[in-house]
Amino acid sequence: MERSVLERLDFGKMGYGCKHYRRRCRIRAPCCNELYSCRHCHNDATSMLSKPLDRHELVRQDVEHVVCSVCDTEQPVAQVCTNCGVRMGEYFCSICKFFDDETGKEHFHCDDCGICRVGGRENFFHCKKCGSCYSNGLRDNHLCVENSMRHHCPICYEYLFDSLKDTAVMKCGHTMHSECYHEMIKRDQYCCPICSKSVIDMSRTWKRIDEEIEATVMPEDYQNRKVWILCNDCNDTTEVYFHIIGHKCGHCNSYNTRAIAPPVLPQ
Ligand SMILES: [Zn+2]
Ligand SMILES: [Zn+2]
Ligand SMILES: [Zn+2]
Ligand SMILES: [Zn+2]
Ligand SMILES: [Zn+2]
Ligand SMILES: [Zn+2]
Ligand SMILES: [Zn+2]
Ligand SMILES: [Zn+2]
Repeated sequence: MERSVLERLDFGKMGYGCKHYRRRCRIRAPCCNELYSCRHCHNDATSMLSKPLDRHELVRQDVEHVVCSVCDTEQPVAQVCTNCGVRMGEYFCSICKFFDDETGKEHFHCDDCGICRVGGRENFFHCKKCGSCYSNGLRDNHLCVENSMRHHCPICYEYLFDSLKDTAVMKCGHTMHSECYHEMIKRDQYCCPICSKSVIDMSRTWKRIDEEIEATVMPEDYQNRKVWILCNDCNDTTEVYFHIIGHKCGHCNSYNTRAIAPPVLPQ
């Protein structure tokens, strides 16, 4: 099979491998039988296919054959080429069928996740409840949400579980990329995009709003008007005085609330 122009270019620029990994082999995709430098190259290419039904993702564990980049011999997956003896990757995982020369990334295979991760085994622990590896700083220091990483980042929509970027766990236990989280905070968004709970301690902001409200007297017509609110932080509903600046939860004092229709009480 002819290598695509793009693949040849990548090859020349990086010496060997692709923009994702440095390795001395290409993988035979089990799904479409084509050769690709890595599964990301496969997924990038297939996601561009014009017919939506042709688009698909490669299942890394299913790869059975590789082609050595030094001698072009196709062979069953292994670290060392059976023909020329070259190591096709300094790091090799026989479960993920994964090769990479950049050992500085400190790859490790987590048996519970079932995939290889980067960043050094000693820096991570596997949370059984969340079903994913987290950095040690989060040990005994996060709210567990079942399968919390098996979804797409709510900001950039990349699938989180096998993303190579760092993860942030918010106070509510939901997750997103660290860089997406910081981008969100920079834009003064302090609610979890998934559950709307406050993502950081907001007590200082709430105090500032208290002061603002105290300094802003509502027109007489509004002074006795009340509204029902639902608190995004504690899920309680309370009836409070209407104010243009904000409505404070009568239960937990959060201003992360929204007005709702009055509850229908049983007669
Ligand atoms: Zn690649
Ligand atoms: Zn070879
Ligand atoms: Zn692995
Ligand atoms: Zn894990
Ligand atoms: Zn957990
Ligand atoms: Zn993201
Ligand atoms: Zn949340
Ligand atoms: Zn509340």
